Amino acid sequence: MPELPEVEALAAFLRGNAVGRVVARVDLSAVQAIKTFDPPLSALAGLEVTGAARHGKFLDLDVSGLHLVVHLARAGWLHWRTGLPAAPPKPGKGPLALRVHLDPLDTDPPAPGFDLTEQGTRKGLAVYVVRSASEVPGVARLGPDALEVDRDTFARLMAGRSGQLKGALTDQTLLAGIGNAYSDEILHAARLSPFKMADKLTDDEVLRLHDAVRATLTDALRRQVGQRAATLKGEKRSGLQVHARTGLPCPVCGDTVREVSFADTSLQYCPTCQTGGKPLADRRMSKLLR
Ligand SMILES: [Zn+2]
Repeated sequence: MPELPEVEALAAFLRGNAVGRVVARVDLSAVQAIKTFDPPLSALAGLEVTGAARHGKFLDLDVSGLHLVVHLARAGWLHWRTGLPAAPPKPGKGPLALRVHLDPLDTDPPAPGFDLTEQGTRKGLAVYVVRSASEVPGVARLGPDALEVDRDTFARLMAGRSGQLKGALTDQTLLAGIGNAYSDEILHAARLSPFKMADKLTDDEVLRLHDAVRATLTDALRRQVGQRAATLKGEKRSGLQVHARTGLPCPVCGDTVREVSFADTSLQYCPTCQTGGKPLADRRMSKLLR
């Protein structure tokens, strides 16, 4: 799932490549992806792209005061394309959700643009056309941005949260931008158990966690901003220490990275670095044993 660093890198890419161009046409292929009807998608045609920004994990393309806001969900992505076919795509076929054609600055090379795609059968990619990004309910509910939250605010957020760290870090209404992958990475960097209670952290642990949020996201951003959209995913994968590395050695201590189920997904962690060497019991199992 694209998280803060990937979405920020996509916004930066669009600032460099889409801003200044005029939207020629928008093709909707996956009807369920569009969540708004007024203004219509067609209202974007003929307007100049004037900016690109990020709100949490939402991408926001400013088109002369109208906003095309996108949430890429679990398996969505943005593909920058040159020489897009002029014929509209067949609705409902393949991973294509939405195609944006941009007017070229010159006639050669042919018109560029981008595709929003989504792999898999669970469709969650969402597109909104609004006059202000805050009209999108998910944007309006966002907590402070994970990259900008200061230590005092962060400490207050954690102290007020009576739940496990993994859930706290990924709750967008508490802190915006962190998802499944970077929460694993942040907890590993902070040497904290994903199941530790947020409001039970010591002052030192809160500082360590805040530092890890900063360091992990800043490092990912540094590697990703400037990358082309096509190479971002590989760059993300290569920088991960524990996430999606079950069974592989922890790069810090050499212990084997473990996996445990969490909510409707799974998380990865290093026992030696994070849980005093003890593997975490499956949550559903530990509930039965309690
Ligand atoms: Zn380790």
